[in-house]
Amino acid sequence: TSVIVWFRNDLRLADHAALAAAVKADAKIFPVYILEDTVAGGRKLGGASKWWLDKSLKSLRSAISQRGGKLICRKGDAEKVLHDLVSETGADAVFWGRRYTQPEMDRDADIKKALQDEGIEAESFNTCLLTEPWSYQTTSGGYYKVFTPYWRAVRSSFEAPDPVQAPETFAGIGINGDEIESWELHPSKPDWSKGFDDMWTPGEEGAQERLQSFLDGPVREYEEMRNRPDQDGTSGLSPHLHHGEISPATVWRAVMGRINRGLQEEESAWSFLSEIVWREFSYVLIYHNPKMGRENYDSKFNKMEWRSNKKDLELWQKGKTGYPIVDAGMRQLWATGWMHNRVRMIVASLLTKHLLLNWTEGEDWFWDTLVDADPASNAAGWQWTAGSGADASPYFRVFNPITQGQKFDQTGAYVRRWCPELKKLPNKHLHAPWEAGRHVLEKAGIELGKTYPRPIIEHRQGRQRALDAWETLKGK
Ligand code: FAD
Repeated sequence: TSVIVWFRNDLRLADHAALAAAVKADAKIFPVYILEDTVAGGRKLGGASKWWLDKSLKSLRSAISQRGGKLICRKGDAEKVLHDLVSETGADAVFWGRRYTQPEMDRDADIKKALQDEGIEAESFNTCLLTEPWSYQTTSGGYYKVFTPYWRAVRSSFEAPDPVQAPETFAGIGINGDEIESWELHPSKPDWSKGFDDMWTPGEEGAQERLQSFLDGPVREYEEMRNRPDQDGTSGLSPHLHHGEISPATVWRAVMGRINRGLQEEESAWSFLSEIVWREFSYVLIYHNPKMGRENYDSKFNKMEWRSNKKDLELWQKGKTGYPIVDAGMRQLWATGWMHNRVRMIVASLLTKHLLLNWTEGEDWFWDTLVDADPASNAAGWQWTAGSGADASPYFRVFNPITQGQKFDQTGAYVRRWCPELKKLPNKHLHAPWEAGRHVLEKAGIELGKTYPRPIIEHRQGRQRALDAWETLKGK
């Protein structure tokens, strides 16, 4: 038998259920990647995601060619491409990993039906989650809308299955395909990706290395350090997990292995696993609320009177709000395609509260600029911060960007790294430069309004405007 394995957000060979099923069937495996016009959530790929995809596909291509095969790359409508490939390869079956967003799920169902109508076996598998969004139900029978009970349920019952076998050989040589290079996923004119190269190694090996170096150190102090953008306290696994270069079960098993071998800092490891499960929870939410990617989970927010202000949006995007922790985060995002979670919350709060701009404007920007841009986690993260989400932080909780900076970037290393023009300010004033006296500013070589902006809106004023908008919304 011959099987086409259609790769999507599972760009790896290890622990891949669709590949394992083909191995089990003792089939000749034709590995395929199809570049579709729209991806998860029916959107176009963002620029940073394209950068990642380019490298990740090349890494997969090379792993497959080392096993004697060829990653067949095609562009276009997946149903048509698969139809053509079935006849070109003579395959009896097509296997793939499931997706959980709309319109992709409907599309996959149509593809499955079309293949089956042609007498081809079509089967889908779980390749990118620990458990699928319908696996856990509350005692009353619905899905979990609150994270903590969901996490308790997973923690107490989930056991990662044994890893499944990767194929030793592949087919595909002789079948026509595009060169990945011809897709021009890598940015040109200008090529803004230098900072990305410095930080990331897309692909399966890069993912394994990330996991290893996290387990060798930061996992022990994760609980304490995960909120500190001035420390390397988190795993940096998010783009690898998003593109499926490592399975979450592999991560789970590796961490559980440490716990079972008597890791002293056991609670720290559990706290890390709970974040892995936040990713799962985002998928539970979006699966059960397919419109959540673009629309308020809590429909009360449909009546929120968001401002529309292009200039403020641009200052936020460019990291010129005058709040150092926010600007540092936005510049880190632009330079590396990633931002620390604590800072994501702070910048999202500033956009939706102080600036009173709709969370979808921020989500769009993140979608384009994050290497881990994910339809479920991004929408869930934005809606959580904006207050419109399931189990969200209430809208009236407005982060103070000054005290957040002082608390979580205690050393000031984060702001100094991304806003070098503030480097010489003493810690005391680093997160509120406008409060420093003229003499201090002069000594640090800062001219407010010129070398570094004044705050886009005064904190108390922004906070009050947000609270007023909330009161108006409540009364509607
Ligand atoms: P670690 O702390 O090492 O966590 C391990 C893994 O757990 C991460 O790789 C990630 O897969 C998962 N995870 C951690 N925190 C969360 C969370 N809050 N929600 C869901 N999964 C989580 N994450 C994305 O993967 N893609 C996004 O598009 C995305 N957008 C976000 C937008 C906003 C406004 C906010 C507040 C958060 C967003 N997150 C998103 C969640 C989180 O910020 C990142 O997953 C995390 O910063 C990635 O860094 P890490 O791999 O070092 O995380």
